Amino acid sequence: MLEFFLMKVIDHIRQSTEPLISFEILPPLKGKSIQSLYQHLDPLMEHKPAFINVTYHRSEHVFKKKPDGTFDKIVVRKRPGTESICAAILNKYNVDTVPHLICGGFDINETEDALINLNYLGIDNVLVLRGDAPKSESSFEPEPGGHRFAIDLLKQVVNLNNGLYLEKELKNTSQTKFCIGVAGYPEKHFEAPNMQSDLLYLKAKVDAGADYIITQMFFDNSQYFAFVKACRDMGVTVPIIPGLKPIYSKKQLTLLPKTFHIDIPSDLAKEIITCKNDEEVEKVGEEWLVAQSKELKKAGVPVLHYYTLGRPHIIANVVNSI
Ligand code: FAD
Repeated sequence: MLEFFLMKVIDHIRQSTEPLISFEILPPLKGKSIQSLYQHLDPLMEHKPAFINVTYHRSEHVFKKKPDGTFDKIVVRKRPGTESICAAILNKYNVDTVPHLICGGFDINETEDALINLNYLGIDNVLVLRGDAPKSESSFEPEPGGHRFAIDLLKQVVNLNNGLYLEKELKNTSQTKFCIGVAGYPEKHFEAPNMQSDLLYLKAKVDAGADYIITQMFFDNSQYFAFVKACRDMGVTVPIIPGLKPIYSKKQLTLLPKTFHIDIPSDLAKEIITCKNDEEVEKVGEEWLVAQSKELKKAGVPVLHYYTLGRPHIIANVVNSI
């Protein structure tokens, strides 16, 4: 029988004298088996990640055309299973997992149930996020009885950590012990009117109990260093984990800025444009990520957190090179 030594992300960081490695993965597409996930993770596990994040994907509305020309609006959830995948990874690899928990699509009772389930599974880490609007909607709207901002969800987790459940009359409750991460944006969250306002809301999340910050991907380390300095100047002292992603195709040059509201530095963009095919782009992207990772490691970041998204071999090469 496996013996588990589960730890909180913040304890991994506190106990390590050098930058740790961690990965983010997506649950498999509905219809795929858990084996597809293990095939993705196997080459990465030899790099001994301190923890693995598992993203959350809310339901989408899609319109299906009927023979009479009218449309049926149906609800589709393409990647279910975040919580159970965390438990499966823990069971198979004996590594800590961090499920992402979002506000969108949940009311506060469903959120509490999800947290109780994670607690029963022995998972003590969560990354709390607001989530985005479904593709069919133009702006984020909370579920009726749900949270509008990540900070509201965070406060619910902090309440459970203090034994405060939604039913106030519950007595002698057990306290959960979630270590809580939040998202930060070195190039600003796309809805924030300015960087200062975005940073103030980030600080509010930390003041409300976040243990650490993980950043949106960036391709220019100076953006991360400036962000960390701005946070420190504001009195934010928690670890700030850089989120890193490889570029491997030409179409990402426009797709990444459009989807994630981030810049691709001109030197990297120029190199990618001159590539003859995506194999060459992958090589350029990998070299760029190695250089980024080496510089961040030298600067003493707490963790190098890689978005592995369908390209585990690139991440394995990068981690080998640093
Ligand atoms: P918030 O912190 O709530 O901020 C959202 C916006 O509101 C910001 O512009 C902020 O400045 C502003 N704001 C915050 N608080 C207030 C307030 N009290 N009053 C007014 N304005 C306020 N999405 C998913 O659906 N699933 C995932 O698994 C997922 N994983 C992610 C992992 C990382 C590391 C990152 C960086 C993002 C991830 N996302 C994920 C995307 C995320 O859900 C979106 O970026 C979302 O738009 C914002 O989430 P947040 O938690 O930063 O929101």
